[in-house]
Amino acid sequence: MTAPDPETLGRRAEAMILELGRISAEPDRLVRRFLSPEHRRAADLVAQWMRAAGLAVSEDALGTVKGSRGEGPRLLIGSHIDSVVDGGHYDGPLGVVAGILAASHFADRPLPFGIDVLAFGDEEGSRFPATLASSSACAGIFRPDTLLLADAGGVTLADAIRAYGKNPEDIPSASYRRGSAAAYVEVHIEQGPVLESRRQPLGSVTAIIGQTYLLVETTGEAGHAGTVPMPLRRDALAGAAEAVLLAERLASDTRGELVATVGRLAAEPGAANVIPGRVTLTVDVRSGSDRQRAEFVQRFNAGCRDIAGRRNIAIGVTPTREVATTPCHPSLQDAIAVAIASVGSEAVRLGSGAGHDGQAMAKLCPIGMMFVRCRGGVSHNPLEYASPQDMGLAVAALIRFIERFKPV
Ligand SMILES: [Zn+2]
Repeated sequence: MTAPDPETLGRRAEAMILELGRISAEPDRLVRRFLSPEHRRAADLVAQWMRAAGLAVSEDALGTVKGSRGEGPRLLIGSHIDSVVDGGHYDGPLGVVAGILAASHFADRPLPFGIDVLAFGDEEGSRFPATLASSSACAGIFRPDTLLLADAGGVTLADAIRAYGKNPEDIPSASYRRGSAAAYVEVHIEQGPVLESRRQPLGSVTAIIGQTYLLVETTGEAGHAGTVPMPLRRDALAGAAEAVLLAERLASDTRGELVATVGRLAAEPGAANVIPGRVTLTVDVRSGSDRQRAEFVQRFNAGCRDIAGRRNIAIGVTPTREVATTPCHPSLQDAIAVAIASVGSEAVRLGSGAGHDGQAMAKLCPIGMMFVRCRGGVSHNPLEYASPQDMGLAVAALIRFIERFKPV
């Protein structure tokens, strides 16, 4: 069999991704929502590519396109074809295209395991207030109450499934049988600047890192900006400002292992001449270590108690969402690193700060992810870009991975 040629693979990957990128709900920007007419067109194009690659195509109740070959335990290779509003071309489609090109490379050769290339339709959650519905169904962890969620137009997920020509009652049959899936592997753009800063095209992902969201409310006393002397003030915003800097300092002290972001802050009453009486802010905390996030929350709480005491205000910290870290399987991490090295690159090990379908698939089988450098670390943005050279290396490395893959 011929060796994979990264240059040709990269050119083909780029052409396919750009073709998929032309399928959008809006002429001037990329908008591809779950179970929309654009999802249908994208799924049809993907199915056509899968057939051309020698794969047998099927579709489940949530519109996930599956291209299958071979018998035996399944190696699942996938990603998603939905987009955020005004998204980029590479986030999602690269993983689907890489899977199809890699499978096509083995078209005339038997393998000791089967391959299913999966194109999920709901990773971004840009239509319904939930994410990972498609991969959750495949993993057998789809929650039926998700069907009641409605989009901005009031259409429930159940109705959208019917309008797409599917039946919500068929969702359980989308699930893989326990033990039938040997591994799930996904190629994805990094969506961050680490590979670019290391001047390396590819990385092996160690974990999809967990997230903790905190809602912080500081309560002081609103007052006249002219009449209340400084020592008598109970300024909720000045206290909140200290809490913001506390979060930044605690995260910085971890030297890159944990990141914390205050992305929203609202002061009340919000008038230029009134001392703020109440402030709400959010803290988004991410780290590959669940223990480290818990420690952050503990220290942040203690620091807030101190701020509140000194300023005679109240600070309430409420965790509103907790997503545990999903580790990539050590043997898949290593196998992906070996595959990357075999195409002549240095395999950078890095965590994923963004969520992925692997978080759901990990409930079914071991997962592994390969990251591809993207320009400026930019994603969820039309400027998102991965070079054909890097994508070609990624597909070549995926082919090497498949050649060596042994189901456990
Ligand atoms: Zn993605």
